[in-house]
Amino acid sequence: MTDDFRKPGARKVGQVKEVTSLANPIIKYIKALSNKKDREAAGIFMAEGLKLVIDALELGWEIRTLIYAKAAKGKPLVEQVATRTVANGGLVLEVSEKVLSSVTRRDNPQMVVGIFEQRWKRLEDLAPESDETIVALDRVRDPGNLGTIIRTADAAGASAVILVGDCTDPFSLETVRATMGSVFALPVVKCSVDEFLGWQKRSGVNVVATHLAGAVDYRTADYKSKPVVILMGNEQSGLPDNLAKAANRTVRIPQQGLADSLNLAVATAVMLFEARRHLLTLEDRT
Ligand code: SAM
Repeated sequence: MTDDFRKPGARKVGQVKEVTSLANPIIKYIKALSNKKDREAAGIFMAEGLKLVIDALELGWEIRTLIYAKAAKGKPLVEQVATRTVANGGLVLEVSEKVLSSVTRRDNPQMVVGIFEQRWKRLEDLAPESDETIVALDRVRDPGNLGTIIRTADAAGASAVILVGDCTDPFSLETVRATMGSVFALPVVKCSVDEFLGWQKRSGVNVVATHLAGAVDYRTADYKSKPVVILMGNEQSGLPDNLAKAANRTVRIPQQGLADSLNLAVATAVMLFEARRHLLTLEDRT
């Protein structure tokens, strides 16, 4: 965790660049962050909203650029965030609403946008203890699902999200929006199926896989004796055989009604809150 950027005596904003033209090269560069390739190449991503930007800074994330609407100029918190950005060697842009709409692709954009450095945790660095829960997602494709899962995993007290195989990008605008800030709180790992299976053997975790053909009721699995990895399948095709067979348990959430299956994010939430039921209390939050 870094020092509190709101501490008294922080430097005044040194330099703010005013931008009103959509043709400005910095704006073009930032707009290109909507492409995964450009995001990956630059190693940065965009988060919208003053609260998210403040939360990220307080959690020690590196801000590269702060963009705010002219109407936000002079607001104390915006000025403090701008001061912190400049102190870190970042750029501060004061822009028209038209520019902000174009950057965020929204008609009613947030007043503040931050461009942050991406952060990935390495699979080798995940060494969960027995009361920890990790979510592993096989080829998750939908950005809204991924964002909702990151947010839910954070709320349930999970330690990380592992993206196995070709997954949607956790740093896309849509995913970051759906995380509601939890992308800054929860480490994200990406790996291949083989890397995941190798780590599963080495790390002594209990992998509880979910499958529509699972014979075991998810409420009867053991979530207490070892660190748990909840393994979820792809939205269209479900979990492939090699991942399902390597799991310690394959469970199913009982259903009634016409629906074939639950939405991936909903199923993940049901699993997470069951796996961590013995660890969650109302007193966790004051
Ligand atoms: N057609 C896919 C299939 O045959 O598996 C449906 C996939 S479902 C939309 C996405 C994922 O959510 C599944 O792979 C599984 O991980 C989880 N899931 C959804 N409903 C479930 C249930 N009733 N029991 C266990 N897992 C479930």
